[in-house]
This record gives sequence, C-alpha cells and structure tokens, in this order.
Amino acid sequence: MPKLFAGNWKLYLTDEASVALARAYGEAARETGAEAVAAPSFTALVRVAAALAGTEVALGAQDVYWEDAGAHTGEVSPAALSALGVRYVIVGHSERRAMGETDEAVARKAAAVLAHGMTPIVCVGETEEEKDADRREEVVRSQLRAALDGLHPTSERPVIVAYEPRWAIGTGVPCEPEEAAAVHRLIRRELEVLVGEGTASVRVLYGGSVDPSNVGGFLARPEIDGVLVGGASADAGKAKAMMAMAAEA
Ligand code: PEP
Repeated sequence: MPKLFAGNWKLYLTDEASVALARAYGEAARETGAEAVAAPSFTALVRVAAALAGTEVALGAQDVYWEDAGAHTGEVSPAALSALGVRYVIVGHSERRAMGETDEAVARKAAAVLAHGMTPIVCVGETEEEKDADRREEVVRSQLRAALDGLHPTSERPVIVAYEPRWAIGTGVPCEPEEAAAVHRLIRRELEVLVGEGTASVRVLYGGSVDPSNVGGFLARPEIDGVLVGGASADAGKAKAMMAMAAEA
C-alpha cells in the first residue's frame, strides 16, 4: 500500500485560505503522485470539496457526532459529512480527548463513520505524564481496544489508526522514528488480537510535529504506513514537500 499523507488543518485557516490550500494540494498530488487527504474546518468543507473535485486528494473532516439527526446542538452528523463527499474522518484526536472526549464517544464516532461508508482515522496516544510513568503501552492498548471493539475492518471497510503521542503534538518535538516504530509494532500486535484477518486492511500512521525536515525518518520505517500532519500541513510548500517524500517512500 502507498504511504498516506493526511493533513489536519485544525483551526488554522479561513475558508478563503482553505480553498487556496486545497488547490495547492490538488496540484501537489498530481505532480508527486502522492495519496493525500485534506481535513479542513467544517465550515470550509463545501468549498474545499469543490476545489478538490477532479483531483486525487480525498476530503477529510476533523470530527463528527454519531447520530444522524436529533436534538444535538452544535454537532455535525456522519450523514451530513458523507453527503458532502467526505471520505475520511479523524476521531479521538488528542485535542478533543483533552476537552473530555471519552473512549466510548470515540468508539461510537468510529462506528458511525464506518456505517456511512467513510474511513475513520482513529487517534491514539499517551500524555507526557503517562509516558513518564511507563504507561504508554497500556494507554495505547486500551484506547485501541475501546475504539476498535466490534468494528471489523476489511479492505472494503478500512480503518486507519494514527499513533499520535500527545506530548509530540504541536510541540515541535516529534517522537523518534525508532520509538514510534516500536509503538506501531505494538499496535499491529494488538490489531491481530482485536480484528484478526482485518489487520491487513488497517493502515497505521504516525502524527506529532511532523514536517519536511523529519518526515523522511518516519516514512522510511516499514511499520509506519504514512503520516497525519497538523501545523506543517497548513503550509502549501511544506505539504508538497512531504507529499513528494510520501510518494517516493
Ligand atoms: C495533529 O494535529 O494531528 C498533529 C499531528 O499536529 P502537529 O503536526 O501540529 O503536531
């Protein structure tokens, strides 16, 4: 499988800037041949979808709710995302977990995304305190179990896991590729228990302060199937440089 470049644009851009970046992603994907995902803010999805039409870049969303309709003020349904052409949805991002999102909510979101024919990008990762307390394996394992229990991914219903250590997100201090690769091996072993044969269809990405200067180290690891990039993905030049490396890896 080719290595995936997924850009999480967080809350960095206006709608106008998102459209311009989407055009740059489309061009970069065409020039480099990279497989790429762009996840803008909800408000920019319609215009970014139009800007990405006819390109190889898939549309992503940064979050979702699990119900299709009802009294859920402020939420966005999986049905609405799917109708806009969204193909990937980030769930359980650490910035949402830090605001109180539970493992149970992440599991419901992942299941709802799959049920609507989209691919969840399930984020897992430990905090700095958990790492220092030697609890990384336990935390990653339990987040993975909670999110994937009962999902049964297959090549027709793929799931993506992103290992994103919280202490590496937005800090400029990435995990060492060697260390990330060890966690990816742990995730693979856990996937074998959780989803058996479906494991082959699950891509495991690394995320956390990835940029053009360090992405090569992650992409070179066979355990790492691609990258989920925040800050640096909102810069057209950096995104293109990382796509070129992903396509070559
Ligand atoms: C992210 O938001 O998923 C992320 C990895 O952020 P950053 O690349 O900015 O650390």
